[in-house]
Amino acid sequence: MFLSMSEFNQEYLKKERDQQWRVDLRESLKQKDRVKIERLKMPEQDPRVRIKNNLEVNSGLTAEQAVTEAQRCLDCVNPTCIEGCPVNINIPKFIKYIEARDFLKAAQTLKETNALPAVCGRVCPQEVQCELTCFYTQKLKKSPVAIGNLERFAADYERETKQISVPEIKKQNNIKVAVIGSGPAGLAAAGDLAKSGYSVTVFEALHEIGGVLKYGIPEFRLPNSIVDMEIDILRKMGVFFIRDFVVGKTSDINDLQKQGYKAFFIGSGAGLPRFMNIPGENLIGILSANEYLTRVNLMGATKPGYDTPVHPGKNVAVIGGGNTAMDSVRTAKRLGAERAMIIYRRSLEEMPARKEEIHHAMEEGIEFNILQNPVEYLSQKDGRVSRMRIQKMELGEPDESGRRKPVPIVGSEYLIDTDLVIVSVGVSPNPLIPKQMPQLKVTRWGTLEVYPETLETSITGIFAGGDIVRGGATVILAMGDGRKAAAGIDQYLKNL
Ligand code: FAD
Ligand code: SF4
Repeated sequence: MFLSMSEFNQEYLKKERDQQWRVDLRESLKQKDRVKIERLKMPEQDPRVRIKNNLEVNSGLTAEQAVTEAQRCLDCVNPTCIEGCPVNINIPKFIKYIEARDFLKAAQTLKETNALPAVCGRVCPQEVQCELTCFYTQKLKKSPVAIGNLERFAADYERETKQISVPEIKKQNNIKVAVIGSGPAGLAAAGDLAKSGYSVTVFEALHEIGGVLKYGIPEFRLPNSIVDMEIDILRKMGVFFIRDFVVGKTSDINDLQKQGYKAFFIGSGAGLPRFMNIPGENLIGILSANEYLTRVNLMGATKPGYDTPVHPGKNVAVIGGGNTAMDSVRTAKRLGAERAMIIYRRSLEEMPARKEEIHHAMEEGIEFNILQNPVEYLSQKDGRVSRMRIQKMELGEPDESGRRKPVPIVGSEYLIDTDLVIVSVGVSPNPLIPKQMPQLKVTRWGTLEVYPETLETSITGIFAGGDIVRGGATVILAMGDGRKAAAGIDQYLKNL
């Protein structure tokens, strides 16, 4: 029997409640005193300093701060925060371990359901997930418990004190499962499958493991060493990684089946950039955010001796308003841009980037040109972009996404000088695997069709999740899919 996500959540919650976990708190505060504690602000680097380095902006809570923040949690009878978490972390349990200063138990609790807590504590949009459904937000109309900051604290504590725990795995059953893609979806699937005793191999096209966590999100938000540490735990659980292996080119799923792989999880993401198809978009100095960030983060573009450099840019224009746009513009600023600007066609309220990232970008002196859209790129010399024509916009009626549609203002066009344009207007799924397997059903957006209960594709034994199914989404939704598909694969293999 397959469980839907909400049934899965209910089962999980019931199981956890049945186990009657209780944390022995040394000082038990009254609820009325807990709600009086103000949410603690995450310490961070001064904006004037951080734009000159690539170190993490947020420096993490101290142990004392974490314990104080943990005291705010009311350990609700009905912990609505868990319902907001796509990987079902037992949030009050890990927080109460922090309050009791048992930081290692807190980290172990996180790892029961989350293969990448140090990553999620840094990049998950908690404000629209667990923190949104927290009792404080919903009922008290106060700032929620800082669940993400506490998650990061517990995961970092384990690493910094070198007491990293490896989740228990069941006895190996020697059944081979292939995971395609090593982004958060693939890593979460691999972790759960390894825990269930499967022999898991992850095939990754690039020379680094981690997907967008490595090639997209910059070091100042998510250091690569943090991602590597969490991947290392998966290795210790027996997950085997093969790099530089493009499924569909190096070898295909049929070949892998012949090598004994009994089930597959496709987590190949949505790495195909979209462009706007406006005049001049092929000029030198205009590139996609994916290319720009991959060159900087993964290909040593800013270091001497590498043969894939990027032009650092003096007047850098980033088109778009999502997390990728914020990461690109803040990277450009750190690479020395005098003017680093966002050009976004809607208003600040509609910007899809995390509020924290927008706030940090503003603190760092990024220029926000909102309700504006490029309509043409121009070159004065050598086929290199030197200016762009911008049209001002106003908001009209809501479109199919529910957001008010940007409408061009006639006669409002003007020119901006720019020598580097980074286009970040969305991504599409990588078509390689679907093209190579025409029996795989795809939607009109090129995403893979799956059964929602199990995430099995139109081909028996092949499952999929993350951005290849959702289009560009989030780390935690990709991980939730990885976990759900792992449960689907387990059921499928047990019934073979
Ligand atoms: P990916 O992370 O894209 O991983 C897919 C992997 O599959 C890649 O490593 C790719 O090389 C590999 N692959 C592809 N095809 C093949 C093949 N044929 N054979 C073998 N391997 C293959 N989300 C957040 O929650 N918070 C954020 O702050 C945030 N910031 C972001 C910033 C940027 C710059 C970007 C680009 C995205 C950001 N996101 C953020 C979105 C989030 O990173 C993605 O939703 C998430 O990584 C999707 O995970 P995935 O595992 O489905 O795919
Ligand atoms: Fe704690 Fe908020 Fe969850 Fe209640 S809803 S258990 S207060 S984190």
